Amino acid sequence: MTFQDLNLNTPLYNAIDDLGFSNPTPIQAEAFNVVASGKDVVGIAQTGTGKTFAYMLPILRHLKYSQQDNPRVLVLVPTRELVVQVVDEIEKLSKYINNRVLGVYGGTNINTQKQAVAQGQDIIVATPGRLYDLAVSRVLQLKSIQKLVIDEVDVMLDLGFRHQLMNIFDILPERRQNIMFSATMTSDVDELITDFFINPNKISIAVSGTPLENINQQRYNVPNFYTKVNLLEHLFQTKDEFSKVLIFVAYKKMADRLFDRLEELFPNETCVIHSNKTQNYRLRSIEQFREGEHRLLVATDVMARGLDIDDITHVINFDTPDYPENYMHRIGRTGRAEKLGHSLLFSTEKEQDARERLEDLMQMHIETLDIPDTVEISSELIEEERPQIKEHYNPTKRRAEDEPGPAFHEKKDKNKKENLGGSYRREIAKKYKKPKTRGDKNYNKRNKKRK
Ligand code: AMP
Repeated sequence: MTFQDLNLNTPLYNAIDDLGFSNPTPIQAEAFNVVASGKDVVGIAQTGTGKTFAYMLPILRHLKYSQQDNPRVLVLVPTRELVVQVVDEIEKLSKYINNRVLGVYGGTNINTQKQAVAQGQDIIVATPGRLYDLAVSRVLQLKSIQKLVIDEVDVMLDLGFRHQLMNIFDILPERRQNIMFSATMTSDVDELITDFFINPNKISIAVSGTPLENINQQRYNVPNFYTKVNLLEHLFQTKDEFSKVLIFVAYKKMADRLFDRLEELFPNETCVIHSNKTQNYRLRSIEQFREGEHRLLVATDVMARGLDIDDITHVINFDTPDYPENYMHRIGRTGRAEKLGHSLLFSTEKEQDARERLEDLMQMHIETLDIPDTVEISSELIEEERPQIKEHYNPTKRRAEDEPGPAFHEKKDKNKKENLGGSYRREIAKKYKKPKTRGDKNYNKRNKKRK
């Protein structure tokens, strides 16, 4: 199929020509007519499949020129980075179209955004929280929204945006087209669709769980954090090969910890993103990595979802994700656009179960590599790796009803004895007739007074 088979118009054809795209991707080919029909649509597609254009091409094709101030298309995405990326994609497609696109997100001055909204917009791309704030302030009028796109819905629900989505649904016009894209079909997503969508058409490509064929996956068994760092140090020596590496970790603290180590080993080659970093820091990190200024990017799963960065040579799973689908999303970052990508998975002893689960999901075994002899196996452990003695706080443990009740038979003599405290104290008491104190019992009192 070629773009000529889609019912586009000259400005869109020209923009696509300028981008150098020759054929629509499968999701674009499949989505075009369905989205153009105006019916509710649910698309299952991952980043890298061209899903942004899959919904934007038909929307832009049918968005008429207008001078009205109130936006007609609303695109909701879970992170601020995605707002920037989607706006960028829309602008590329709109090169020869006279439309107004604005991205709004939290963590930045709302007044500047209010002014931009007030100038009149056609398309708003937003994170849910900031969008709602703008709508409540009445600067942003949503009454003309005809099309609502929610992208990366699964992440949005994972991040706990359900409530905010409901609030937004409440203030949107009822007559509108809902278009939703998700990388995975989770039960939360399914529930949202049943509650708010009207007989949606479902389109889907690549059943989630199918590893992309052009990703070469390998793995290492690595005992602990410091050995994992030593292995990275060894691998990253070959700069030509590891020239654009995305390193995934499960949580923020680990991201910072790994970043600190890598920054020492490879100064000015490493950047990091996670949700505690400021907006500017995050955007700068992504830009440095995207442009090739820094070759190593450490990221948490949530932050990296949906990010479209070209030519990533390697994805490193610094830990083994508990949820196999996170692994699928991670490795999908490499091996884009027909290029061969590489994924390495590090698993400790504890992570072997999770590793088996994801191999089961993919129905394949990941080739295991031996740690090279030159890599030092560390025995030092980080806090989380040390054996933990857990003392559970259990306030219900000693409730009266847990006490042994009265016996149904006479107690034997030896059990009738009263507990008089430790036997040593009893012996001493017998011997001295009064409790023995050690040292001068008035010592403390006197000392206190002196102070
Ligand atoms: P997405 O899945 O929307 O994040 O897009 C992934 C990347 O593919 C983006 O950089 C797009 O610019 C690019 N892309 C979108 N459609 C096509 C196409 N038909 N041919 C080649 N590249 C495309």
